[in-house]
Amino acid sequence: MSNTPQKWDVIIIGAGASGLMCAATAGYQNKSVLVIDHAPKAAAKIRISGGGKCNFTNIEVTPNHFICQNPHFVKSALSRYPSSAFIELVERHGLDFEERELGKLFCKQRASDLIQILRTECDWAGAEVLTHCDLSQVEFINNQYRIHTSQGCFTADKLVVATGALSFPKLKATGVGYDIAKQFDINVIATSPGLVPLVFEGKWQERISALSGLALEVNVSCETHAFNEAILFTHNGLSGPGILQISNYWQRGKTIQIDLLPGLVVLDELKALKKSGQSIQKWLNQYWPKRFTQAWLEWFPIENQLSNLTDEALADYAEHIQNWTLYPSDTAGYDKAEVTLGGVDTDEVSSKTFESKKQPGLFFIGEVLDVTGHLGGYNFQWAWASAVACGLSL
Ligand SMILES: Cc1cc2nc3c(=O)[nH]c(=O)nc-3n(C[C@H](O)[C@H](O)[C@H](O)COP(=O)(O)OP(=O)(O)OC[C@H]3O[C@@H](n4cnc5c(N)ncnc54)[C@H](O)[C@@H]3O)c2cc1C
Repeated sequence: MSNTPQKWDVIIIGAGASGLMCAATAGYQNKSVLVIDHAPKAAAKIRISGGGKCNFTNIEVTPNHFICQNPHFVKSALSRYPSSAFIELVERHGLDFEERELGKLFCKQRASDLIQILRTECDWAGAEVLTHCDLSQVEFINNQYRIHTSQGCFTADKLVVATGALSFPKLKATGVGYDIAKQFDINVIATSPGLVPLVFEGKWQERISALSGLALEVNVSCETHAFNEAILFTHNGLSGPGILQISNYWQRGKTIQIDLLPGLVVLDELKALKKSGQSIQKWLNQYWPKRFTQAWLEWFPIENQLSNLTDEALADYAEHIQNWTLYPSDTAGYDKAEVTLGGVDTDEVSSKTFESKKQPGLFFIGEVLDVTGHLGGYNFQWAWASAVACGLSL
């Protein structure tokens, strides 16, 4: 049993990105704040994200970078706490960071520097963080939340659920936030792994795995969604930023399309090749690693000199290259997913305060909500923005 006081203005469940940010914000509003987390250390996902450098936000953040059944839901919080506000915060703490491609901002040294900033903000704001604290039950009695944990029973007028989602269970991710929502009769949209590699069966699994380690700059699409980013061949299937992005839109039974030479009109190029008599293999090697050209020509054989081919045959081949259709069998699952699609239904939550419309004093922030960002620092930006909007309203 700890010496932690039993009665608080606000209890936050989850000392991750959104929980710590919300705790500091509420603490600065003179609220007494307790954050509990069952993990041994706070913010495990920040620590390992972005290859240990944490892609903590993006220079350009718009509502279009998010997937949510109600696309308007994210607008208010994102506009009230833009990425420039978070950048200003980390600059104030002297964080060494750098901008990479597509406006992504990363810590230059280590992601734990960012956790230290959030912990310092919590300290300055007087918010207490209890780790190793297992939650057993949440009750709502006499307009108060009572939280039963391995470190005692705590009560508060307001309860913030910042428990994240199901991805990366080895970092102690759980679906407890959904259980709390359901306990109070709040709808939860069906969840699935997001920003996740895609896997294949049969010959395509073998073919992809044989090219493990190879990366290509492509345009990858699924129905109306498309991304110009790299894909990576791995032993288990396809990964890389382009695949992670499109995985947010892919469902079982759907195909993905890959333009292997984006920016080129391949049919025109093939017609010119036919005229010049140059070999297609040599031409493809200008754009692709030789290993991929060789594999491609084995999968989709064509005469090396195009002179005997009709324009129709050239058009078919160009279509193969620019609209390569693949049939993933599944995603690599929550173990490998950076995020979780679906979650607490945003129609049930105020977009200004993040309070449940049904259950007074109960708030949901961060990834537990049905809000998923694209790859590029958008998921952390959502954690910061939703946390600040909620923290100011508590
Ligand atoms: C490998 C990986 C890399 C990523 N890289 C990036 C990136 O570079 N940029 C980006 O924007 N996003 C990235 N993300 C996504 C990002 O980490 C999350 O979207 C973000 O952390 C969500 O914040 P949150 O506060 O909602 O949840 P979290 O940060 O996950 O925090 C939830 C907290 O709740 C605690 N908790 C869970 N269940 C319980 C329970 N039963 N009792 C008590 N506590 C509990 C957890 O221990 C955790 O500390 C990455 C995710 C992964 C898995």
